[in-house]
Amino acid sequence: VPIELALSPLPVGERMRYTLIIHDLTERHKVNRMKDEFISTVNHELRTPLTSIKGALGLVVGGVLDAHPDKKASALALSYDNCQRLEVLINDLLDIGKIQYAEAQLQLQPLLLDALVDKALAMNQGYADKFEVRLRAVAAPEGAAVLGDENRLLQVLSNLLSNACKYSPTQGEVVVSVEPRQGQWRISVADSGPGIPVEFQAQVFERFTQADSSDTRRLGGTGLGLAITRALVERHGGRISFDSLPGEGAVFHVDLPGARPQDGDAVVKAAGT
Ligand code: ADP
Repeated sequence: VPIELALSPLPVGERMRYTLIIHDLTERHKVNRMKDEFISTVNHELRTPLTSIKGALGLVVGGVLDAHPDKKASALALSYDNCQRLEVLINDLLDIGKIQYAEAQLQLQPLLLDALVDKALAMNQGYADKFEVRLRAVAAPEGAAVLGDENRLLQVLSNLLSNACKYSPTQGEVVVSVEPRQGQWRISVADSGPGIPVEFQAQVFERFTQADSSDTRRLGGTGLGLAITRALVERHGGRISFDSLPGEGAVFHVDLPGARPQDGDAVVKAAGT
């Protein structure tokens, strides 16, 4: 066990009393190691697209591709794609930093879940169309409401909906439902995709993890989406979990505390708007 010793003298009458303080540094070492790992992953994730951009633009700038307009065009297109990837990565990284270091203040207000789910579905309709997936909401129990930050909860639902679309078969259906569970509201997003591979289940919410690393290029993810989603749900005092049977799809659950009776007036007001 790594320890740190400190001796603290205290005069007691004519004598000195010494107190020996022993700090267990295990936790501090663990946090430092996690930070190191995070920095080296970020370094790698940012460097990969940057190296590719630099290589492709180097050929263009050096005139190497002047005699091959089609190759030149594809080098530029590749650079553009990688710029977009860098943009997504940087946004995700800034976001995760803000959420974890509590800089992101939540703008809490009572939110009716029916309206929230409808908004999330509308926001993701274009994405669903792209994957030829149908989005459906099951009506929430009347008056079901939580105290939350609307934009952040929409971000949570959008992350889950976009994953559900990405991993659904074409013509598949993604269903969002709300039901009471252990005194809280459970919002579930169910798809009919391949589910989460058993060996990957323990890492789903970890940063930069993907069951299949080829997904990054094919589907444009960063492996940060669910880490951000979990951090946001936890900032709301909630919990995120999933059920998955291989081949039968994945269901992600977000459990959130309901708006309390003293938020009641505001809930009614929100309902009327
Ligand atoms: P990404 O940005 O790659 O989507 P996420 O953190 O959102 O990153 O997801 C991490 C990984 O979890 C995905 O790459 C995928 O392997 C798996 N995953 C997430 N949602 C689903 C789902 N609905 N069905 C199957 N696998 C999923």
